Amino acid sequence: MPAGHMALQAAPSAAAGRALYRGFQRRSAHVVLAAPAPGGGGGGGAPRSAAAAAASGQAPTVASAAPAAKRITAAELMEEVERLRVENETLRQQLAGLKGGEAEAGAAAPTTPAAPTEEAADVAGSEGLAERLEAGIQWPKPEEGSFWERPPRVAPLPLAPPAAGPGGGVLDPRSFHIMHITAEMAPVAKVGGLGDVVTGLARSCLGRGHNVEIMLPFYECLPESAVEDLKHERDFECPKGKTWDGVFQSGTLRTQVFTGKIEGCPVILIRPDWNDSNLFRGGRIYGGSYNEAEAYLYFSRACLEYVRQSGRQPDVLHVHEWQAAAVAMLFWDAPAQFSQDMPRTRVMMTIHNFDSSGECKQDEFAATGVSGELYATVDKALDERTIGHNPERLCLLKGGIVYSNAVTTVSPGYANETLNGGAAGWLKSSLAAPAVAAKYKGVLNGIDTSFWDPATDPLIPACFDAQRQEGKALCKRFLQEGLGLTVDPSKPLVAVVSRLVPQKGIHLIEHAVHRTIQQGGQVVVLGTGHADGGLRGLAGGQYRDNPDVQMRFLYSEPLAHQIYAAADMLLVPSMFEPCGLTQMIALRYGTVPVVRSTGGLADTVKDVDNYQGTDPKPNGFVFDGIDAGSLDSALDRAFRYYKETPERWAALRGSIMSDAPRWSWDTAAGSYVDLYQQASQA
Ligand code: ADP
Repeated sequence: MPAGHMALQAAPSAAAGRALYRGFQRRSAHVVLAAPAPGGGGGGGAPRSAAAAAASGQAPTVASAAPAAKRITAAELMEEVERLRVENETLRQQLAGLKGGEAEAGAAAPTTPAAPTEEAADVAGSEGLAERLEAGIQWPKPEEGSFWERPPRVAPLPLAPPAAGPGGGVLDPRSFHIMHITAEMAPVAKVGGLGDVVTGLARSCLGRGHNVEIMLPFYECLPESAVEDLKHERDFECPKGKTWDGVFQSGTLRTQVFTGKIEGCPVILIRPDWNDSNLFRGGRIYGGSYNEAEAYLYFSRACLEYVRQSGRQPDVLHVHEWQAAAVAMLFWDAPAQFSQDMPRTRVMMTIHNFDSSGECKQDEFAATGVSGELYATVDKALDERTIGHNPERLCLLKGGIVYSNAVTTVSPGYANETLNGGAAGWLKSSLAAPAVAAKYKGVLNGIDTSFWDPATDPLIPACFDAQRQEGKALCKRFLQEGLGLTVDPSKPLVAVVSRLVPQKGIHLIEHAVHRTIQQGGQVVVLGTGHADGGLRGLAGGQYRDNPDVQMRFLYSEPLAHQIYAAADMLLVPSMFEPCGLTQMIALRYGTVPVVRSTGGLADTVKDVDNYQGTDPKPNGFVFDGIDAGSLDSALDRAFRYYKETPERWAALRGSIMSDAPRWSWDTAAGSYVDLYQQASQA
């Protein structure tokens, strides 16, 4: 994309670019406007819609002229009316934008809600919903194995039209050029919540009229087929040094840049020449047989080099986690003088988890092409731990905190724990420094409520929503049959979808398996991680033949969707939780969260019995301690509600689903846009 190009797109539709079950999804059409850049840099070619044609001064080819001889059906007519309504709205908003003199905002396409599909409209108003939903399900057979890898239905049967897409159709008054620099992006390069957050925030900002690009490593495990319009854009020599016998030596690494789109978001993929390096090679995102510090330090430099060489002048470089923290350090303080070449650019860093602070040897920092000595002072990238007994090591997260114009973490509760508790570890004093405290804030993550939507989700066997909950019972039966659990609608089904690492409260998950079985429930665990030994022991030993316990130690997006849809309760007993997305996804799917009160879990889940009258409404069961008894106090109460007062349980399920749109990215993206605004004025 040439310098200054401001291609502002309509929000990607809910289904756009979704890699899974593409063939089974109904895609909603969306308008893409390539607005001419100020100075005439916009893309040429034929406008792709009437609205675009009008915006470009060419005669719109409005499809009002259906051949007179052709007999039009009522459904076709309705579709056409809706299309014209959307187009009309598009033009109206563009006109308003142009009149307001806001060239950038005026050029942006508003979100175009897709017309209801015939199917959705039909189902929404029909009688006998449960029967119709049931009829299309392809029930799994016990011998089938990985039933979640194929479509769960003959054809999708959404209960609603595809969502309007992230952003809520509201354009922000000022359009920013935001470039994310990240190690993960959902769904193609996702290990945990970081990937979800980057994609969700980017899609929401696109929907609000911003120009958003995501830079990430082109991992060997990232399938080329997952990238729409994949193009090799350029090669360049990226500065990359090494330190030998204490002496810094400069060099370069040939670097390839690819562009394309993932989930409707423009992406820039960085790959080193694999003839000279094995960085980012291997079958997974993390844990390859290369030095990760070296890999992400090189990646940080390569991103900055590319941004400068391509002539971009982004408003914000939004960097994520320690993996991209060196971007802030290099941008403001390196012989390469990036900040001089991009005078209006500001850097924002989001810390998704303080648990990984990205320590590296000063020598390793040479992978950026800059000697680590430059940052080896306590006011830069040495923290209290490294300076005491490991002064040869730099803390990249600290460097990022010091050099970024704004720093966020992913919930107000966790931000408080980092400032006033132990959550930030050795970085606590760095956060408390007045210059940092003034720019540090907790912003609650959201979820992509168009991707996570039980009314339209093509990965689940039967769709449902707050008003029409019949499909949820079918989803439960589907999972019970597929996994080989006893098929019994009355047994409370407790689920865990999690990385299996100590942070997630593994000892409490293990305890919950026992407790749930004692209480007459069922347990499903889906997870991966190095701390899975105890659970594997239970799955292969004590509960091997138990028809009420099933665990899968793998990563599967479709199975995760099917579990959220099927379960009655989702357990999240984390020792600490910066934000947590699984509890918000569960709420969206009418699955009641049972959580430990920490970080973002405490911000989002309020106990039904101990409600303090704070926002949001009571929506789950909460406990404080880290012992088994504390967990029992919440889990047992949830079981009592479920078994003894089913009408209250059903009301709770309906209420959490109705309230779920509040967890969408729209709120969080608004907060980020405010911060972009503040940072750009700094
Ligand atoms: P974290 O980022 O600490 O892993 P979050 O709750 O923020 O935790 O995000 C977890 C995300 O990863 C959710 O989208 C969840 O559905 C997903 N996830 C976790 N484990 C699995 C798994 N084994 N298979 C599929 N999705 C998973």
